[in-house]
Amino acid sequence: MRLLVTGGAGYIGSVVAAQLVEEGHDVTVLDDLSTGHADAVPEGARFVRGSITDAGGLLAEGFDAVLHFAAKSLVGESVERPGEYWACNLGGTLALLEAMRAAGVPRIVFSSTAAVYGEPERVPIEETDPTRPASPYGASKLAVDTALTAFAGLYGLAAVSLRYFNVAGAYGRFCERHAVETHLIPNVLKVALGERESVSLFGTDYPTEDGTCVRDYLHVADLARAHLLALRACTPGTHRIYNLGNGTGFSVKEVIDVCREVTGRPIPVVVGPRRPGDPAVLVASAEKIKRELGWKPERPGLHEIVADAWEAMLRLRGA
Ligand code: UDP
Repeated sequence: MRLLVTGGAGYIGSVVAAQLVEEGHDVTVLDDLSTGHADAVPEGARFVRGSITDAGGLLAEGFDAVLHFAAKSLVGESVERPGEYWACNLGGTLALLEAMRAAGVPRIVFSSTAAVYGEPERVPIEETDPTRPASPYGASKLAVDTALTAFAGLYGLAAVSLRYFNVAGAYGRFCERHAVETHLIPNVLKVALGERESVSLFGTDYPTEDGTCVRDYLHVADLARAHLLALRACTPGTHRIYNLGNGTGFSVKEVIDVCREVTGRPIPVVVGPRRPGDPAVLVASAEKIKRELGWKPERPGLHEIVADAWEAMLRLRGA
């Protein structure tokens, strides 16, 4: 298929683009490089530097589907500067959807998030559970889901939203390289690399076994594979929504211990207060995508997830 990957110079977009190229698809990456890296565009993909708000000319070339990753994705930043999140994540996506409609592009796979659920009433979280986002980031992603449902019903768009829980690990050389890194695993590994002095542990008084937050970490390669299945499952006039996670929770302390094991390096920890807005436990039920699309994680172990992230970080630094 002829595919447009928006945000394909970012972490998850680059891994999906790489897997699509490997499957023999004709891949174009559209990215404005606001947070991505040109050298993260995989070999074999064409790169166009530009904005999703101005994709009409490119889409008119003719594409079979768009895989849409381009977005702003920092929860804390979205609370401080909500307008930017609404403009980019909702406004940008609506412009993209209108341009797709004008160009007759029939399918979209959308990169969504567990942040649409907010504080859960129960775990594991299912797709039918209440959506009460606790940040403009989550709210802007949820608003896109509403738009996708409408576009599917009105115009016959074939849409799939994938709601990611915690994504980690690396796929070959493709790894997390955020200028502002807020995620736990890359931050802990930066301490192991000596690039940061210590890990700040945000809260040890949660109602969990060891008092630290529990999250569902999924290997980015497994996550990416789900996009290829979603692309095949796209059905005209239908908007499907799937959670993507391991279905297993790991505490912050467990993650830090595994990072110590994998790197063999000391990782000093400084315990601090809770980070505002962090729910105690977030674990996905991914039963729906397993049942309907036959997806299942092939690398569910935390050790392998951390080891792949570590290897890619060392490689990027020429170590
Ligand atoms: N966390 C932490 N120190 C950090 C980064 C994260 O203690 O430097 C905790 C955070 O409070 C949360 C968990 O690690 O409980 C996962 O956070 P992350 O930002 O990686 O993902 P989130 O679950 O917020 O999407």
